Amino acid sequence: MKIFELNGLKSILEKSKNIIIVAHKNPDGDAVGSSLGLSLLLKEAFTDKNIQVVLPNKFPEFLEWLPKQEQILFFDQNNSEAKKSINNADLIFTLDFNSFGRTGEMAEELEQSKADFVMIDHHQQPDDYAKFTFSDTSIGSTCEMIYLTIQHLGYEKFLTKEIGECIYTGIMTDTGSFKFSSTSSQTHRIIADLIDLGVENSKIHQNTFDNNSLSRLQLMGIAMSNLKIIAEKHAAYITLSQEELDLNDFKKGDTEGFVNYALSLKGINLAVIFIENKSEGIIKISLRSIGDIDVNTLARKYFNGGGHQNAAGGRSELSMSETITKFEKILTDEF
Ligand code: 5GP
Ligand code: MN
Repeated sequence: MKIFELNGLKSILEKSKNIIIVAHKNPDGDAVGSSLGLSLLLKEAFTDKNIQVVLPNKFPEFLEWLPKQEQILFFDQNNSEAKKSINNADLIFTLDFNSFGRTGEMAEELEQSKADFVMIDHHQQPDDYAKFTFSDTSIGSTCEMIYLTIQHLGYEKFLTKEIGECIYTGIMTDTGSFKFSSTSSQTHRIIADLIDLGVENSKIHQNTFDNNSLSRLQLMGIAMSNLKIIAEKHAAYITLSQEELDLNDFKKGDTEGFVNYALSLKGINLAVIFIENKSEGIIKISLRSIGDIDVNTLARKYFNGGGHQNAAGGRSELSMSETITKFEKILTDEF
């Protein structure tokens, strides 16, 4: 589904004094890259406005090299300052999500806000809160949409290398380093523009992917030894218990990408990872698929989640073993 309703945004932008940019909870490369990139661009374009990125919580360590990330406010850590920013805002960009619920505790503040909302997002089934909407599920990343939005507004002249680094990062992480089917010729054209801007592409890959800790690689070893295949359903799944995480010095982001190894198995077209989170009392679930298998629908129907056709997430409030039993039943019922 595509909605491109940004007409009039430019004049509202020019009139707004306090602009905030928010993205979803547990922000990934696309969420951080798009919000930071847009904020740096707006700061280049307008020196007389207050422009602030507010994220529900911290992003993983592998994104800590991103330029100007120290300017971000985190709703969980800087609560009163973040609330003040949201309450004072006259324009709020919501990036890489389309339903306030995806921002966790911050949702309540967003609901109460009198600001105009702009949605730029590539997830399915958008809610109807935005005055300006750019929603397109066929585009691989919100960062790609941010670049298109910059072009639409005629703001290319404000692009800098740092903005390019942010946008490159989100495109790279959300397309699986340009490998998913959502990667288009347009994606590569934008990447070419970013390289022309001075972005050192190889350095970004190294900064993001080649800064592993030994404990992360050892946790990956455990994940791979826990991997189970359900051959007749062409499915595979991984479990990680809280104890296994604790024994390997788990930090946010350490399990990123593990599920893709399950999907890389020959003959497998559905892969899931179940990660126990004792403090939240849930099992966090990530689903990945190939082709027509729609994990967005599966995540919505069974695991209180959502996402995209081939990459989605959700949660279970059952125990790990009950969650696995539920998953095996879903495989029997659905496939
Ligand atoms: P991941 O498995 O990497 O956490 O997320 C994969 C995709 O699913 C991302 O696009 C993410 O935004 C979406 N997603 C992950 N968890 C949830 C969730 O709990 N609810 C919804 N609606 N989407 C999710
Ligand atoms: Mn995204």
